Formats: sequence, structure tokens, C-alpha cells
Amino acid sequence: MNRRRFILQSSKAGVALSLGATLMACIDQNTDTVVQPKKSKVIALCTWGFSEANAAAGKALESGSTALEAAITGVAVEEANIKNSTVGKGGAPDREGNVTLDACVMDANGDCGAVVCVQNITHVAALAKVVMKETEHVMLAGEGAEELAYRHGFQKENLLTEKAAEDYRAWLKTSKYEPIINIENHDTIGMLCMDQHGDIAGACTTSGLSYKMKGRVGDSPIIGAGLFIDNEVGGAAATGMGEEIMKQVGSFLIVELMRQGKSPQEACEVAMQRIVSKNKDINKFQVAYIAINKAGATGSYCIHPGFSRMEYRNGKNTRIPSAAHFTN
Ligand code: ASP
Repeated sequence: MNRRRFILQSSKAGVALSLGATLMACIDQNTDTVVQPKKSKVIALCTWGFSEANAAAGKALESGSTALEAAITGVAVEEANIKNSTVGKGGAPDREGNVTLDACVMDANGDCGAVVCVQNITHVAALAKVVMKETEHVMLAGEGAEELAYRHGFQKENLLTEKAAEDYRAWLKTSKYEPIINIENHDTIGMLCMDQHGDIAGACTTSGLSYKMKGRVGDSPIIGAGLFIDNEVGGAAATGMGEEIMKQVGSFLIVELMRQGKSPQEACEVAMQRIVSKNKDINKFQVAYIAINKAGATGSYCIHPGFSRMEYRNGKNTRIPSAAHFTN
């Protein structure tokens, strides 16, 4: 072995250790030249038009992040966006005026973590990961979750912004509780990522329904409802009326339908049909699903037009309007 080949093969081992086999540089034995690894196909997709969040996840995946880390990085953009009244800081409060957040994460090993009804912490998806990694539990609620956050260095923050407080005061005049379809064309962010190894993971994070009852928890932090991953099959995430998604265990159902051979698009449509066929009131609420399978095919479906998903693939971030049960 000449010196050049020895160095190349040594560095090949180093790259393999840090990034895994898919990115390994190798040597063409005929020409004795280094063949650069092909950029493997990473994919990020998320609910609604959260382009910045989805791009952040896509770029993290391209630079070697795991699917879970990328999903948490992506949704963190919206958790910190105070202009977004449906996720994280700046989210609408409950009827008592308290902002309470819900989130969950699920990784390619089938491990998961969730937090519900958390106050004063912005990055609740990252906190859900702490529950998953650092405790023997899957879900922590309220003060217990908040205390865990402080023990792990999260900052205490006032999540009720001036704007959200002003809107809440205006709402108090009628105190009418009415879920709104397609709030400002954004809502809960559910994100699904496929990394350079082809592994799939996801995160889902929300402030829940605006002016919800104190203590109300929706689908978003419920594994199987707001998010489900089976790395042998694919993943799904949900947004919209959490009570209806929970009743059908929507994201789990989609993954099981994909396991039975349905495409992500077909699986989202069949799962939505369960909600549509069991409700007389589908005019009054929105539900939307997104899904990805192991081959990298994706799909989405919603009840009312107006929902779209963001998709990052081949370095491009694209907004894809979703097919809907109603056509106008
Ligand atoms: N699914 C969320 C919940 O029910 C809210 C939403 O996505 O609109 O809390």
C-alpha cells in the first residue's frame, strides 16, 4: 500500500465513524482517485407554510444532523416566533389568560417523549426530548415538566406577548369559544424528517386551541395522535381539531395504513375518511395530515381547502397545497 492510499483509507475510516456509511469517501481501485460521496437524499416536511422552520430542518439534515435533531431544530424556529399565535412564545392563551404548550418527539428507534400544559418554557419539543432521554417516562405534565426544564438549563420566559394579551382582552368581551378553520394559514407545527441514513423521526409542538379550557390537552403531544413514527414504515403528523384526531389515533392509523401498502397520500385520505364519516359537523373544524414513507414518498390531506405542507428535498424548499375533502 502506498502512502497516499494509506492516508485515503485512514481518512475513509474516520469519516465512516463520524457520519456513517452513506457518506463514506472511497477509492476507485482502477484510477486510484477519491470518489466523493453523493449527497444522500434528506427530506424535511412540515404542516402549513412554515418555510423558515422547514428550511432550518432541511439544512440541519444536509449537514449531518439526525432526523430527530433536525426536527427539533426546525420546530424551534416557530416556537421562538412571537408572530405565530399558535406555537410557542406568542401563542394564544387559555380562557384564564395562561399560555400552555404541548409537544412531543419520536425517533427512529421508536423512543418518544412528550410534555403537556407547560407554562414559561418556549422550546417544549426540546423539553420533550429531555423527557425521552433523561427520564424513565414518556410524558410529563405542567409543573413537573417545567421543573425538569429548569434542571436542564431551560430559561423561564413569559410566553404571553403584548399582542396575544391584547387579543385575549378583546376575546374576553364575548368569551365565545369557536375553533377557527385555517387560522392565518398556520397552526400547530408537525415535522417529519428523513436523515442521511434514511432514518425517520419527528416533532410536533403547539399552544393548542386558542382560549381552550384550563387544562385542555389536544392531540399534538399524544403519541399516535399528533405524531407517530415507525422507522420500518414511515411517519405521520397532524394538525387541526385535536379532539377529532385523538378519537381516531390519526397518525398511528396513517402509519398502519402505509404498513399495509397504502402510499402516504392514500393513507392520509383513508385516515381522514374515518373522521369525515363519523362527524356530522365537519363544516365546523379543520383537520390535516402529512405523511412520509421509507422510500421518501410524501402526502397530505385535509378537510377544508387552505392547508399546505412545506417540503425540503434536493436542497429546495417547496410549498405544496394539499388536496382536500371539500373542493372549495
Ligand atoms: N391540533 C392542535 C390541538 O388540538 C391545534 C391545531 O393544530 O390547530 O391542540
